[in-house]
Amino acid sequence: MLNIVLFGPPGAGKGTQSEKLIGKYNLVHLSTGDLFRKHLGEGTDLGKLAQSYMDDGNLVPDEVVIGMVRDKISKTIDPKGFIFDGFPRTVHQAQSLDDMLSDFDTSVSGMVSLEVPDEELKIRLLERGKTSGRADDQNEEKIDTRVRVYKAETLPVAKFYDSKNKLNAVIGVGGIDEIFNNICVVVDGL
Ligand code: AMP
Repeated sequence: MLNIVLFGPPGAGKGTQSEKLIGKYNLVHLSTGDLFRKHLGEGTDLGKLAQSYMDDGNLVPDEVVIGMVRDKISKTIDPKGFIFDGFPRTVHQAQSLDDMLSDFDTSVSGMVSLEVPDEELKIRLLERGKTSGRADDQNEEKIDTRVRVYKAETLPVAKFYDSKNKLNAVIGVGGIDEIFNNICVVVDGL
């Protein structure tokens, strides 16, 4: 299986690039943010639990996220592989992902880390907020919290994969297709 962790700060373009990657490599897109938004929309208990964290730009507790991902992986029939988008966001989640995948006799093939400067992120998120309907994209304070949480809790995940020689940095600024081609060069080498 080809299992890719698509990593990067909020607004790096993970969702856009994931959509292109699933088409080319026939993978399953597993976005924890999308899964939470689906639960929110359906008014499930999980959605209600996640809402206050999401509204404030904070992380949903690890055990909740990990349970949801495990459930999704176990319900996917005969996947060629996964693109993990927005997960793992803590080192604990990364360790749990290793455990989960080894239960299914597979592992993370590599991480692709999209590198985008902070100033660019804020511009992109505010622009996305005009059409996405996402409350967490429409408020500068919430965006700042998300970037701060990313640096404090999520950046160490890159070190975790680096120590396993699985970290691949790709510049996330430029045309969407140009960035996609650079990601494909990495993925083709995994
Ligand atoms: P995203 O769509 O990836 O930007 O995620 C939106 C929000 O969902 C985040 O700001 C978090 O509140 C929550 N979330 C998504 N993925 C995770 C995760 N792996 N761990 C904790 N919280 C998450």
